[in-house]
Amino acid sequence: MSQQPVLKNRRTLLERAEKFISEIYFTDCNLRGRLYGDSCPLESLASFLSSKRITFTEASKQNFAPHKVGDTFGPTWWTCWFKVTLNIPDSWRGKEVHLLWESDGEAMVWRDEQPVQGLTKEGEKTSYILSDCLKDEEPHSITLYVEVACNGLFGAGEGSMIAAPDPNRMFSVQKAELVVFNREVRELLTDFEMLIDIVKELGEGEQRGYQALFTVNEMVNLCDPCDPSSFSKVHSLAHNFFSQRNGESQHNTHAMGHCHIDSAWLWPYEETIRKCGRSWVTVIRLMEKNPEFVFTCSQAQQFQWVKSWYPGLFSQIQHYVKKGQFIPVGGAWVEMDGNLPSGESMVRQFLEGQRFFNHEFGIHCKEFWLPDTFGYSAQLPQIMQGCGISNFLTQKLSWNLVNTFPHNTFFWEGLDGSKVLTHFPPGNSYEMKGKVEDLVKTVKNNKDKGRANHSAVLFGFGDGGGGPTQLMLDRLHRVRDTDGLPKVQMSSPDRLFSELQADSALLCTWTGELFLELHNGTYTTQAQIKRGNRQCETLLHDIEIASSLALCQDGTFQYPVEKLQELWRLLLLNQFHDVIPGSCIEMVVEDALRYYEDIRRDGSTLLHNACGALGSKGNSAGVFNSLPWERHEVIQIQDGAGKPDLGMLILIYTQMVAKHEEYSFVQDMSGHLLNGILQTVINKDGTLASLYLISANREAIYDSCYGNQFIMFDDVPLYWDAWDVMDYHLQTRKPVLEVVQPVRVVSSGGLRGSVSFTLRISDKSTITQEIVMDAMCPYIKFNTEVKWAESHKFLKVEFPVRVHSPSATYEIQFGHLQRPTHRNTSWDWARFEVWGHKWADLSEHNFGVALLNDCKYGYSVHKNTMTLSLLRATKAPDANADMGTHHFTYAVMPHTGSFQDASVIQCAYNLNFPLRSIRCTPDTVPWNAFSISSAAVILETIKRAEDRKGALVVRLYESHGSSVTATLCTTLPVREAWPCDLLERQDPTQPAHITSEGIILNFNPFQIVSLLLIL
Ligand SMILES: [Zn+2]
Repeated sequence: MSQQPVLKNRRTLLERAEKFISEIYFTDCNLRGRLYGDSCPLESLASFLSSKRITFTEASKQNFAPHKVGDTFGPTWWTCWFKVTLNIPDSWRGKEVHLLWESDGEAMVWRDEQPVQGLTKEGEKTSYILSDCLKDEEPHSITLYVEVACNGLFGAGEGSMIAAPDPNRMFSVQKAELVVFNREVRELLTDFEMLIDIVKELGEGEQRGYQALFTVNEMVNLCDPCDPSSFSKVHSLAHNFFSQRNGESQHNTHAMGHCHIDSAWLWPYEETIRKCGRSWVTVIRLMEKNPEFVFTCSQAQQFQWVKSWYPGLFSQIQHYVKKGQFIPVGGAWVEMDGNLPSGESMVRQFLEGQRFFNHEFGIHCKEFWLPDTFGYSAQLPQIMQGCGISNFLTQKLSWNLVNTFPHNTFFWEGLDGSKVLTHFPPGNSYEMKGKVEDLVKTVKNNKDKGRANHSAVLFGFGDGGGGPTQLMLDRLHRVRDTDGLPKVQMSSPDRLFSELQADSALLCTWTGELFLELHNGTYTTQAQIKRGNRQCETLLHDIEIASSLALCQDGTFQYPVEKLQELWRLLLLNQFHDVIPGSCIEMVVEDALRYYEDIRRDGSTLLHNACGALGSKGNSAGVFNSLPWERHEVIQIQDGAGKPDLGMLILIYTQMVAKHEEYSFVQDMSGHLLNGILQTVINKDGTLASLYLISANREAIYDSCYGNQFIMFDDVPLYWDAWDVMDYHLQTRKPVLEVVQPVRVVSSGGLRGSVSFTLRISDKSTITQEIVMDAMCPYIKFNTEVKWAESHKFLKVEFPVRVHSPSATYEIQFGHLQRPTHRNTSWDWARFEVWGHKWADLSEHNFGVALLNDCKYGYSVHKNTMTLSLLRATKAPDANADMGTHHFTYAVMPHTGSFQDASVIQCAYNLNFPLRSIRCTPDTVPWNAFSISSAAVILETIKRAEDRKGALVVRLYESHGSSVTATLCTTLPVREAWPCDLLERQDPTQPAHITSEGIILNFNPFQIVSLLLIL
């Protein structure tokens, strides 16, 4: 270096360099001030405002009125279309020419009727390149359209990002002009920026940082912003620095462009379609200029949207998928919530996703991609493996509020022992910017130093969309192998995971769920969405079973393949990780509830058709039982005169005429309910003073406590309102004590005894509940109606029980797991609010109590108190979340033995899958399609095989946590049976073992088994 020695003053040198590229200071004489050359106004600007999201063809036919820069337009969620006519001056020959467009909102540029690029100030995209190097033969007079959505990258929150949207926000264009862009200046600015960042990030402890400092200082000495001939010398100084290589042992980062787009969140589904269009078309433009650029893109649903809204863009995407640059990842229909969807829903996420990617691109995803979801079920590894996926990527556990997760690269072992190679990008972000900081963090944060020498660097604007920029690519390109920084290669998930797998001998294993110690309110927020999900999962289950049986019974029956796929896809869409958790704005909730209504409406027609085809014609009452065991239940049926009646039915899989028998049942005025199994004493306020299991001679309610006690908590989190319930809410416990209507008898005996009562929560909110005890039923049902108009309150119901156990059991997808009831360590304490599905159980040896529900997911069991979370009242991002009337049912079930032996699992299924009334002839014989020899095995799913008309797929799982051999018997005309994976790919090497008894199946604990039955 030629310069004079300088004083040992790191700060002045560093700040000098910073000011040399500052956008704020000294732009009259610094390099940044030279980024743009001449400018020129547009020929004309005109606009047309639309309240709806319309197509280009429709928009371009409208009357556009003159528009001045600075004029406002809006309000929120409208669209302003601009017609831009421009004329590039001839004198700009040889120059790079941009349309500079700075506006609020998110914009798409249309040229020649095609979308060509996204423009979003918040995503650092304000330039549309008109020419890289203007030539005479290029068109100089051009007409463009710019479609501006009246919402920001993160919606339109009033005051803060997650506040409910401001419906009246107005928007404007601040700048729209032609400029000459000085590419050389841009390149030098990037050199300077990277070196300055190296100085800052490596700090004073690294000699490499000082080398960067003196390099950048000399560059300032040599650079004359007014004299471009000085630039090449400056650039080569930087180049020399960046070219000093690392040793072999340096950490390797795998850079992949990414653009996390929430399928709905602070904006509605429909806007997401345009976010995908804007983001992905920009990606295609970058690929044209950067052949090494790789972009990973998840969620088949979003590809489906782009295919139907932007077919031209979709075929460009297909082209780059083929080239290996645009990489579909994840294999799922959407990036779904990792906790709440049922096991079968999770399977369908992959079935729909993998089939879509295979059909459209010929691709099979080998990794599950879920960077932004609120915890991960312990059953996911088995489901992934069953769908041909052995790698998993997320980073969300870095959000843990209490404990730091100990690994970045590890094997994750699920409930059944299945393992997947798992990577959390150590930079703790899925939207890096390719900066030095991102790279340094990736190395420093890596908790598997020495075990894993490869990490992912996902770069690009995300959440709201936008994606990567040329600047990010330029940054990463400079430091591909620069001594002192990790190596950077443009890579792919396949390459990353292969490298990790190849060198995995030292990796640790994490067993069980990946629980996120944050966002625990999402198990409860937006109760109607949760209810819609559970009910529609149940309905689709029943439709598939009824239709499959109808297919076997009636050769002319048309299995509703397309309609079922459409309904499944709606259900799967609503399982997106900001919809089913309830962390979305009100517009999304409205869409989601409408989709559930569509599923219910069209689904009930499908079910009706299928039951009709099962041969059930006539006028006698019958029922359809979709569960593979005998059921003895009281149900309400219509008699011939249309009057409701109660019937007692014992049947399996199809219809049978109701038998009407009286069972011993007592209801007296002192609040005693008795059904031969249970005996309970109900207080005037609906709480249970006693719950007695007669056969065991055991009281289930803890001494001097009451069961069914409603509790209100203050529920004010630190920031993430709809998401978070904080530990301190437990200190604000207040029982609901005010009785409006004391307990009164509704049904005094026979097959059903019930009482009801009403409590007052506040001036605006009440609880009305019917406590129901049916003959022969091992549980008491609580049919609940809550009128709810609270603010930042949390309603739960408690059952303090006479059971002592250090752990409680919760149902999850295709199984269950234990969590502690104590608070020994910070890991235990952090799980003060947990999720489960249809049931939770607290058992000691030979006795326990189960809590069942028909649409709830939030639980807590502390010591001996079992609590079900019922309703929250959050105000952001939906100011009206959960306001209104709610209906739900839960049930309590004391039992002897283990919950497995007591059939708690089957009882929870019974509560959730109602016997469905159908019509049949009086001589109809009960028909049993399937039965299983082991109570441990649940036949979960029966459906038509995706690719074979004459075949069914049945899916079973081991539910007790035991190794068993079970026989599956069927009365269906099954010719062959083959094991298959969750994608229904037959394993041709080993046909299932069929004997005269049925199909013999071996299960390991919690194993899922799918069979292809050839009819
Ligand atoms: Zn997200």
